[in-house]
Amino acid sequence: SVTYNFCAGPAMLPRAVMQKAQSELLDWNGLGTSVMEISHRSKEFIAMTEQAEIDLRELMSIPSNYHVLFMHGGGRGQFSAVVNNFLGQQGKALYLVSGSWSQSAVDEAKKLTSEAQIGSINIVENTNDISKVVIPNLNEINKDYRYLHYCPNETVDGIEIFDELESPWPIIADMSSNIMSREIDVSKYALIYAGAQKNIGPSGLSIVIVRDDMLELPSLPQSSIMDYRLAVQHGSMYNTPPTFAWYLAAEVFAWLKVSGGVAAMAKTNLDKAALLYDFIDSSDFYTSKVSVKNRSVMNVTFYLANEALNSEFLKQATDSNLVALKGHRSVGGMRASIYNAMPIEGVEALVEFMKDFAVKN
Ligand code: PLP
Repeated sequence: SVTYNFCAGPAMLPRAVMQKAQSELLDWNGLGTSVMEISHRSKEFIAMTEQAEIDLRELMSIPSNYHVLFMHGGGRGQFSAVVNNFLGQQGKALYLVSGSWSQSAVDEAKKLTSEAQIGSINIVENTNDISKVVIPNLNEINKDYRYLHYCPNETVDGIEIFDELESPWPIIADMSSNIMSREIDVSKYALIYAGAQKNIGPSGLSIVIVRDDMLELPSLPQSSIMDYRLAVQHGSMYNTPPTFAWYLAAEVFAWLKVSGGVAAMAKTNLDKAALLYDFIDSSDFYTSKVSVKNRSVMNVTFYLANEALNSEFLKQATDSNLVALKGHRSVGGMRASIYNAMPIEGVEALVEFMKDFAVKN
C-alpha cells in the first residue's frame, strides 16, 4: 500500500512529479542525457529556467518590480544573505521571534554584525502550556531599521502567523515551510525566501523574491554566490546552479498550475489541517499546544497525553506506512507535516490510525 511521508523536510513531493522525473531521468528533452548532465548554459536548460520563473510568477502573482532568484544554500543560507546584502556596516534590523527558526535567523545575524545592529522581540506568549502569537504595535517603535525579519510558519513549533504585519520597515519573510500553501500579497513584502525542500523541491535550492529597490541598500563584502545583485545580473547563474533541484522545482510549479494553483492548494490544505486538528481536539488522548489562531496549516504538532506511548505510537505508525511523525528533538511529541504534496487521503489514513491507536491504548 501507499506510504505517506509526514517528514518536515526534505518532504514528500507530488508523486506525479516524481514519476515524470523518473521517466525522463536518463533522457531529458530528447537529448539522450539527464538534465543533471547538461550545461546550465544550454538553450534547453535556459528555456526550462525561464518557464520556471514564468510559472512561479504566475502562481504567486509576483509583481514585475520583483526579481526571482534561484540560489544555493537552502533556508539558512538566506539568514546570512539578508544581513550581508542589506545591513552594510551601520544598518540595523529588527527580528520577530516566534520559534526556533526565527531565533536561528537572529543568532546568525548577530554573528555577522555588531550586537547593536540586531534587535529582536519575542512575540510568543505561553499561558497554561498554550502558545499564542502576540504582535506588538510596530508603528510605536521609533527606530530606523533597514528591515523587519519574521518567519510566518515555524516548522518546528507548528506556529503560523496568518495576519499580515503592519510594519513601518520593509518586511523580509522566511516562508520556507509555507510558501505557496495559501495566497499572499507579495507586494506587502520586500523580500520572501524559502528553502526548497518542503513545498518546492529538493533541498539545497532556495527561492528568493526580492523587490528591486532593496538592491540599492549598501551591502557588505560577501561571497559572490550569495550576492543578490550578482544573482540578478547573471540570471541566478553566477556560478553553476543546483541544476537538478531547479529542474524539479520547475516540474513542481507546472504540477501546481495544472492542480489549480495556490488557491486550490490553500483550500485542500485547510481541509487537511481541519481534519487533523478537529480530531485532536475531540480526543483526550492527543493534545495540541498551539492556540487555535496560530495553528500551522503545514506542520501539525501534537502530543500524546501519555508520553510513555510515544515510541510505540511511532513504531505502529511506521508499520502502517505513516512515516516520519516524530516531533523535532527540541520540542518532542509528534509532528505531521502536511505540505501541498500530501493528499487528503494521507491525513485521513493518519486520523484513522490515531483513532485506532487511542482505542487500543
Ligand atoms: N527556515 C525554516 C522556516 C525552516 O523550516 C528551515 C528548515 O528546514 C530552514 C529555515 C532552514 O533550511 P535549510 O535546512 O535549507 O537551511
